[in-house]
Amino acid sequence: MNITLKRITKTYGDVAAAADVSLEIRDGETFFLLGPSGCGKTTLLRIVAGFCAPDSGVVLFDGVDVTARPPHERRTGMVFQNYALWPHMTVEANVAFGLTVPGRQPPAEERRRRVREALCKVRLVDQAERTPTQLSGGQQQRVALARALVINPDCLLLDEPLSNLDAKLRLDMRIEIRRLVKELGITTLYVTHDQKEALSMADRCAVLNGGRVEQVGVPRALYERPVNRFTADFLGGANLIPGSVTAVRDGRLTVNTGFGVWECAAFAKPFAVGARVTLSVRPESLVLTPGSGTPGFPAVIRDVLYLGETAEYRLTAANGTELKALEMNPRWTADARPADVRFSVDPTAVVALPADSNSHDGKTAGS
Ligand code: ADP
Ligand code: MG
Repeated sequence: MNITLKRITKTYGDVAAAADVSLEIRDGETFFLLGPSGCGKTTLLRIVAGFCAPDSGVVLFDGVDVTARPPHERRTGMVFQNYALWPHMTVEANVAFGLTVPGRQPPAEERRRRVREALCKVRLVDQAERTPTQLSGGQQQRVALARALVINPDCLLLDEPLSNLDAKLRLDMRIEIRRLVKELGITTLYVTHDQKEALSMADRCAVLNGGRVEQVGVPRALYERPVNRFTADFLGGANLIPGSVTAVRDGRLTVNTGFGVWECAAFAKPFAVGARVTLSVRPESLVLTPGSGTPGFPAVIRDVLYLGETAEYRLTAANGTELKALEMNPRWTADARPADVRFSVDPTAVVALPADSNSHDGKTAGS
């Protein structure tokens, strides 16, 4: 089933939880809504499920307007952020609860069969007689999934389903959930504030900020070709460097920054000579060489944040610009680092953004 949101707006007092949101989620797609806390992710999910009515705009399922339909007539399966399981009911009873529709319950035999099918899908048949209090966090999460799947929904709606799990389990569950939804071929709308979760699991993703859609795309495009400062910074933490265009040639910009002239090969829209731009450069794209006699821009390493497989170096460039560089298999520590380094970047890893492109349409976000 495909899901279309057309110009959805929802305000609470003077907070715009959704501001003119239009999205198209394709049949069988795993689509992510990604953004910081309070940006309106849950609101949009609740509007799709029918728990919340938009002030304006429409929701279409396979082209049919369902905006006025109550939740139980929408055939969506929802997994809530806190799972919302009954702690003292068995797993089986919790999952069967998903089949409860106002005024209707399937016969006992069918109910048992469908619960069993749903538990099979999430590999929990063995735990049917237990209660959620006897299960691990990951198993509870799968009970919530089974309860959403038991009605054979047309789409699956997941609200930060992994946020209560520890880091290791979260990684395993990313793979597990992705495998499951792809096996079922079910259209999935997944909400998270975790950019790694979105990048690793999504077919496509919408980045939200203050109720607005900032950018929609496949993970790699969002990460490598952000169209504004918000997306650049929210996904992966970019170095954002002000500059002005001094030449445009062969699909490349030459940009004068405070610490030198940079070549830039990636930009969402054309720029003219003289345009003010913000260059977005990923920390892992900065290549550092020790010493002062090598090519690149001079800098000093102010600080080293050791992160295990990587280290984050905090640099100060010649004019005082502060930058971050990320290195796999880090060479240096805070105690053993070169006094001076040079940094350079491949022009294809430098993205030029309009200077005032804080967020949507170049306007600063309202939140
Ligand atoms: P997210 O899920 O991205 O954290 P929400 O959709 O929960 O964001 O909330 C978006 C904004 O709308 C927030 O500012 C939140 O405080 C506000 N909001 C959400 N639901 C309500 C509500 N029922 N009443 C008042 N404000 C709400
Ligand atoms: Mg939320």
